[in-house]
Amino acid sequence: GDKRLEELNVADTTCGYCAVGCRFDLYSDGEEVLAARPTAEEDAPVNGISTCVKGKFGYDFVNSDDRLTTPLVRDENGEFRTASWSEALDRVAEGLGAIKDDHGGEALSVIASSKATNEENYLMGKFARQVLGTNSVDNCNRLCHSSTVAGLAQTYGYGAASISTEDLELADCILLTGSNTTEAHPVLATRIKQNVRDGADLLVFDPREIQIAEYATQYSRVQPGYDAVWINGITRYIIDNDLYDESFVAERTSGFEDLAESLQEFTPERVEEVTGVPHEEIVSAAETIADADRCVFGWTLGLTEHSHGTENVLAMANLAAVTGNLGKPGAGVSPFRGQNNVQGGGGDMGPLPDNFPGYQDIADDEVRAKFEDAWDCEISPDYGHYTTQMFLAADRGDLRGMYIIGENSALSEPGVNHAEEVLEELEFLVVQDLFVTETAEYADVVLPACSFVEKTGTFTNTDRTVQMVKEVMEPKGDSRPDWEILQALANRMGWDWDYDSTAEIMREVNSLTPLYGGVTHERVESEGGLQWPCWDEDHPGTERLYEEEFNTDDGLAHLQGVGFSEPAETPDDEFPFTLTTGRVLYQYHTGTMTHREEGIMQYTPSDFVEINPRTAAEYGIETGDMVRVESRRGSVTVPAQVTDRVGPESVFAPIHFAESAINRLTDEEHLDPQAATPEFKVSAVRIAPADAD
Ligand code: SF4
Repeated sequence: GDKRLEELNVADTTCGYCAVGCRFDLYSDGEEVLAARPTAEEDAPVNGISTCVKGKFGYDFVNSDDRLTTPLVRDENGEFRTASWSEALDRVAEGLGAIKDDHGGEALSVIASSKATNEENYLMGKFARQVLGTNSVDNCNRLCHSSTVAGLAQTYGYGAASISTEDLELADCILLTGSNTTEAHPVLATRIKQNVRDGADLLVFDPREIQIAEYATQYSRVQPGYDAVWINGITRYIIDNDLYDESFVAERTSGFEDLAESLQEFTPERVEEVTGVPHEEIVSAAETIADADRCVFGWTLGLTEHSHGTENVLAMANLAAVTGNLGKPGAGVSPFRGQNNVQGGGGDMGPLPDNFPGYQDIADDEVRAKFEDAWDCEISPDYGHYTTQMFLAADRGDLRGMYIIGENSALSEPGVNHAEEVLEELEFLVVQDLFVTETAEYADVVLPACSFVEKTGTFTNTDRTVQMVKEVMEPKGDSRPDWEILQALANRMGWDWDYDSTAEIMREVNSLTPLYGGVTHERVESEGGLQWPCWDEDHPGTERLYEEEFNTDDGLAHLQGVGFSEPAETPDDEFPFTLTTGRVLYQYHTGTMTHREEGIMQYTPSDFVEINPRTAAEYGIETGDMVRVESRRGSVTVPAQVTDRVGPESVFAPIHFAESAINRLTDEEHLDPQAATPEFKVSAVRIAPADAD
């Protein structure tokens, strides 16, 4: 409409798309979101006055006619019909309760949502352990950065970025790998490009010559699946040529001798042969990093979504430490997190099979006793299933019921043909979401949740900043915030939760989670954001990790060598290409939000497969032709985009559409042994023009 802004509701809030954590003012007339406008610059530490297309225009999904406005239950013919909250909650309490009574809580699991607030994710973990009696609670981090968390936590102590976003502008050198920054984290890419224009070096190692590579001082194309190898090659060169930071290594690390020894197998010839990166490029990257006073190492899922993702991260953590690039301005490690709240809701709040909030180990007797006491329940010391393992456990009959919140597993799990079978066969499935997603189609009960513009709480972004999210309109129809649904359900199942607000939930988090000890709503609001660790009410928060010491038992960074590993599946005569999956700017994950945006859909109306011109010529394929892509697990048909962005040995496809469901091709079985991350970045495939059938 034509309404003047000052007549509308306004809330200064935090973006609900990606983990950059941009802040802006949202305007609503109470019915729909009408505009996003810059907030005062000092209130927006990450983005100032800029936002990307998603944050600026991506609100059609809130107002969409497809929104779920009432609960749905199955009728006697197996069709969905609308139901009252009371009936739906009864059905869920009965369905989950029956499995718990007959088979124990371990037969149940919860998938929590990194789109939801910190407070809600805290309750998702509490609900799993207290109400259902299971440690099998996990979230989408398992499909992306869990190997980052495992690798960084082992080396330095915290599974998170060590830097603040402003360090991207203070660095003299930035190494980026496996990160399509321009498309996945647009506002960070803008800050990196600005720094490069001001003279910083940018090194990009990636299988695809992505847009940010145009700004790079050096772009090196790597063969997917061998990241630890080229990283080790760089570290070896730096150590062998005495280019490392001797005093940092001596004073702040352990394990240096063993690391140096372990690197000897990564000879220049071997690195070049395995990764496809010429030795001169390894040398020039090593020298650029060693010459820089301050270097940031940034990555996303190209490094982590592998059957040995944790090893890749360990290799990167070694490189940052031997060059002394930690704990000072303009230097550090920065895994760019994907979902808006995957750092906070997906990790810090502990909806995890092995950790309570604040990465407190459930196997630690003292810690467990603290939570048993606070939550008034018994908790098993045995770790539950990771998300990827839940689907394998269900296959074995060890898991019978699932409560999936905001996750579209039917598209996002690896090997979705397998995931679909599992969802079909579960004894009881509850899905809580904004829409009837592909996953909800398998549910017994669907509960309508509301979006981030319809509730209040906090998100934690990729640089550990906790920021406020504010309600600007009432929940649509009968939809409710996740925390209210969880509370109603807990009480249906015999507990007595009585939270009045998310501020009150956060006070409980403060009392149980040292990292968030001083992170109250009052302070987040008045200080415009707080970075963890923030131990107590007087602690100012932490801009950069590891300035004085690492968060390990002896305060040192623990270097550990990483041997040679191959992807679980390598190309052969039958399946000669390596498929890598990823994302595009205008879409977001499985598209439950962005597919409702008319403007966005015009740009990228479907998935596609990128094929190198040489390969395309060999197969007689042109841009726009339909191509069948096949792996050992399934096949999909998508239009071709012929481009030299990819090399001749690889093909690339984004993962945003149900029609193509690219994850039919990926592998659900070969998981990272430490973090259980699937190998989305490497599948052996063959291609053929679709009309050849
Ligand atoms: Fe939102 Fe990320 Fe875009 Fe910022 S960069 S506006 S946080 S989607």
